[in-house]
Amino acid sequence: MTRVAFLGLGAMGVPMAAALARRTPADGPTLVWNRHFDRAQAHAAEYGTHAATLQEVAGAGVIFTCLPTSADVDEVIGQIEEYLKEGTVWVDCTSGHPDAAHAQRGRLLACGVKFLDAPVSGGVTGAQAGTLTVMLGGPADEVQAVRPHLAFADKIVHVGNTGAGFTVKAINNALLAVNLWAAGEGLAALAGSGVDLGAALTVINASSGRSNASENLIPARVLTREFPPTFGLGLLAKDIGIALDVASANKSSTPVLAQVGALCRAAAQMVGPAEDHTAMLKLVEQMNGKELR
Ligand code: NDP
Repeated sequence: MTRVAFLGLGAMGVPMAAALARRTPADGPTLVWNRHFDRAQAHAAEYGTHAATLQEVAGAGVIFTCLPTSADVDEVIGQIEEYLKEGTVWVDCTSGHPDAAHAQRGRLLACGVKFLDAPVSGGVTGAQAGTLTVMLGGPADEVQAVRPHLAFADKIVHVGNTGAGFTVKAINNALLAVNLWAAGEGLAALAGSGVDLGAALTVINASSGRSNASENLIPARVLTREFPPTFGLGLLAKDIGIALDVASANKSSTPVLAQVGALCRAAAQMVGPAEDHTAMLKLVEQMNGKELR
């Protein structure tokens, strides 16, 4: 019997912890903790989890975290470190930094705790459906042992050693930013020519210019003007920043990523980091003097 705990009940953490709670009744209720503790209590009331202190959480066999950045995970490790017990596995689902993964693994191993970087993709909808993709970094035997606990996922990929999960996630999200920005520029040019954007997307999405941005994000979030805030623009800017750190550290040449990284940072400043990531295209709109409708 392995008790599991989930720390960080944000947009992703709430449905991920709920998925754990659905899967592990024999192991006792899933423990949940959140910095603003009322969110943990609300989660317990809604999903049958148990709102726990960090001292209680430290007794779990598997501890999941999903916080905005690796710096936030460091902060929580600092608060719980003295209570941790040997044999626990820490699974960090934050979209974190590979350098931090190495430091965190070393720090936790000193307490007898294993660390795996395990960021996820699939968004809030995927988390609610329990169909996230998890990209794991760490030793193969540790990855194998944690697989049965990843109840929020339907695809689990071991991508390499410590830090590799964070690296793949950062590059994936850099590609998301590039595709989103490029589709926004293309649509701005089409709008400038008087072309109906819905008709243009029908063609693009049946053709080679399509992407998740053109097929899903832009029709559902931008053209509707809804921009539902499920994944913050500030978090996307953080992710492409990590991708650029990775490229720079291994001397890769990535001029397009660098440009879009700068644009993404500017958009987060000008539009607001808490806005949905698709609101990045409001900067394209400002640059072109027209809305994408
Ligand atoms: P949210 O902003 O919705 O939630 C952040 C959570 O982290 C909250 O529970 C918050 O607690 C907690 N937190 C923030 N800072 C600290 C801290 N210093 N110490 C303790 N707790 C802290 O973020 P998301 O759920 O959207 O994202 C979480 C991670 O998942 C990010 O790395 C993101 O890039 C990644 N991700 C997000 C996706 C999405 O669609 N949203 C998809 C895939 C990955 P409190 O309530 O107290 O403020």
